[in-house]
Amino acid sequence: MSEAALPTELRPLGILWRGPLDSCNYGCGYCPFAKRSSRRAMLDADRVALARFVAWVEGAAEWSLEVLFTPYGEALVWPWYRDALARISHLPHVRRVAIQTNGSAPMGFLAEADRARLALWVSWHPSEVPREAFAAKMAALHREGTRLSVGAVALPENVEAVEALRAELPPGTPMWINAQKPGVRYGPADIERWSRIDPGFALDVRPHATRGKPCDTGDTVISVDGAGTIHRCHFVADVLGNLYDDDLAAILGPRPCPRPRCDCYIGYAHLPALGMRAVYGDDLLARMRPSATPRSA
Ligand code: SF4
Ligand code: SF4
Repeated sequence: MSEAALPTELRPLGILWRGPLDSCNYGCGYCPFAKRSSRRAMLDADRVALARFVAWVEGAAEWSLEVLFTPYGEALVWPWYRDALARISHLPHVRRVAIQTNGSAPMGFLAEADRARLALWVSWHPSEVPREAFAAKMAALHREGTRLSVGAVALPENVEAVEALRAELPPGTPMWINAQKPGVRYGPADIERWSRIDPGFALDVRPHATRGKPCDTGDTVISVDGAGTIHRCHFVADVLGNLYDDDLAAILGPRPCPRPRCDCYIGYAHLPALGMRAVYGDDLLARMRPSATPRSA
């Protein structure tokens, strides 16, 4: 379906979905999910939870949906996630579907997807995959018309490698950079340097003071787990209801943030004061800045 035919009159809702999955094929030293083995019972539960969520999405035609999968670990290595993404991408009431991934999985499923609506949020982990191989895979995906954002953690020892990655990726590939929090103090020159790769980096360096401030989560964006439990975001424990049992329209509404700080993109992106929806548009969840980023720093 073309962009012009995407639904506009339905009530918009973004969903960040995270099922029971908690394993990864990579071994990043700083990550609790690194090389955690995939237990059969957990995988079965995850698969059932995902199927239930996909069925809900398919029937939710009264909403104009954006869906971002934010797994604990790596999900795309499992075929049921690849099938789900391709399937959801064809639904007329879904504006966007995206997933956070390390990019290691087979990507042939993209040929079955509507690439105009699907996006990959890909993280490069320098300890796990050589830059050249990673850049070549991303460039090939870009050539095939896959919409993606690519990024890395702003570790000082990796700045030159990430700059080299920027130079190797097609210029139109948006890049994002996560500040290392805590652990690294970024001075003005550091922020300026990383910002040449991600113009939004300065927003990621320091936590945003959010208590009592407006945040779109709980109103136009929600977090849903494998059981259908709805939270406003991944960082606030209060339960708003259940996706499968409750009247979603009655649950949603504006509410101020109860937490003192918000320091993760998938949270602060929904602070109206930052105006990020106006910059990223429908690709806010996939973290794809619309303008081409500099080819090199
Ligand atoms: S790729 Fe992501 S989930 Fe996997 S070990 Fe590395 S940081 Fe953790
Ligand atoms: S500001 Fe962050 S922590 Fe607060 S409600 Fe929004 S997303 Fe959640």
